[in-house]
Amino acid sequence: MSGRDDRMSAAAPQAGPACAEIQSPEGHLDEALRRAFWQSLHRAPLPAMSALEVAARVVGALYRQVAQAHEGPNGCRCGWEPDPDCDLIVLEANLAAALLQPPEPDLARMVALGRA
Ligand SMILES: [Zn+2]
Repeated sequence: MSGRDDRMSAAAPQAGPACAEIQSPEGHLDEALRRAFWQSLHRAPLPAMSALEVAARVVGALYRQVAQAHEGPNGCRCGWEPDPDCDLIVLEANLAAALLQPPEPDLARMVALGRA
């Protein structure tokens, strides 16, 4: 058992500047997904569009899994009802909006790392 180790790691202070801004749940997920994407490409480079196509397919697969988790008597009861047609429009709008946004400074730096 490693209960002691778990307690220690849970109690360990978070890395980073002391005045780090408190992130929203959306911000945490955004950062985790970007980090995983760039770390993977750093280890195993892919052509640009191949990498982005994988990322898009993953979003689709995640949608399917989340929708599935809301089906049946044992499904999540938060009240969300999957509607693939409408939800796809929302996801496409988010994709388009992100595409047209100017790159953020930290993202531009990560892109440079990804090319290194
Ligand atoms: Zn739910």
